[in-house]
Amino acid sequence: MPAPQSLPPPPSGHQPYFVGDHPALDLLNTVARPEGATVDFWQSDADVERWLEKAGYGAGGGEARDAHGELLAEARRLREAVRALVEQRKAGRRGDPAVLNEFLREASSYAQLAWARGEAPHLLWTYVSTAPRARLAPLAEQAAELLVEGDFTLVRRCEHPDCILWFYDRTKSHKRRWCSMAVCGNRHKVAEFRRRQQA
Ligand SMILES: [Zn+2]
Repeated sequence: MPAPQSLPPPPSGHQPYFVGDHPALDLLNTVARPEGATVDFWQSDADVERWLEKAGYGAGGGEARDAHGELLAEARRLREAVRALVEQRKAGRRGDPAVLNEFLREASSYAQLAWARGEAPHLLWTYVSTAPRARLAPLAEQAAELLVEGDFTLVRRCEHPDCILWFYDRTKSHKRRWCSMAVCGNRHKVAEFRRRQQA
């Protein structure tokens, strides 16, 4: 795969995939092959910020607006570090955690009790640093948790030969094969059908 910095944007109309059933795997899935060519859904700080919000990391405190490409560069750096670690963990080899640990160091946070009228109290975690790298710290924490606690027999890549998406198989039978039935499951069924027709 070429350096992620050089990957083109997705064809218009395509949205980032949230099929991984784990945020660290959906992080990897921001590089995908929606129409045969490898693309990067992250082309700007705003793309990263939108993705973080959609992935449930709350609204940023203006980091993206002021980051001048720093959030994008850091997010891509975290992503490729996590990709290497996940691939090595999957292959049963040791990975180098140095880059991931840089992000984890930014993860200092404190709890605040939030208690809105008519609601139950809940804890709100506030991160000390407001640097772009700190915006990615919760994601780095979840990646580290996956590497430590994840069952890597269930961390798999979509079986379609032209697909590079990752997922965590949380099905009861543990027989999930596709990133999504609607995309690769269907592509496979159509190909199988054609093959049988020709036979
Ligand atoms: Zn797929």
